Amino acid sequence: MNDYMLLLKEHNLKVTPQRLGILTIVGNAGHISIEDLYTYIRKDFNSISLATLYKNINFMVEVNLLKEIKVPNHKSKYEIVKKEHSHMLCKKCYKLEDLELSLHSLVQDASKKSGYLFDDNTLVLSGICPHCQ
Ligand SMILES: [Zn+2]
Ligand SMILES: [Zn+2]
Repeated sequence: MNDYMLLLKEHNLKVTPQRLGILTIVGNAGHISIEDLYTYIRKDFNSISLATLYKNINFMVEVNLLKEIKVPNHKSKYEIVKKEHSHMLCKKCYKLEDLELSLHSLVQDASKKSGYLFDDNTLVLSGICPHCQ
């Protein structure tokens, strides 16, 4: 049994070849939009519809196996849920990368000031990556 099979089982999702295919592509890409994912998945499953892909992605987001990262002014990207982290986005090539940055004290501070209880503290810093500069 591979890691992705285990991941699906752990989240009480039925293991299907399509779901394994989706997870393999997302895992290899790191962060990927549904449109790009669709292009890749069709190489192995040419009959899969975009609606089916969306449905599967939504299932996996609901059980917290995949995470949607909202990209300002661009399409959302998805990643396999792992340790909490922030992101950097390049505004030229739209590459999205992980950024290890603890927001703990910042979020605590924001809670204290506003009275909000934050449950989503995904931070996306945008700018120009070294490659595009
Ligand atoms: Zn770039
Ligand atoms: Zn990430």
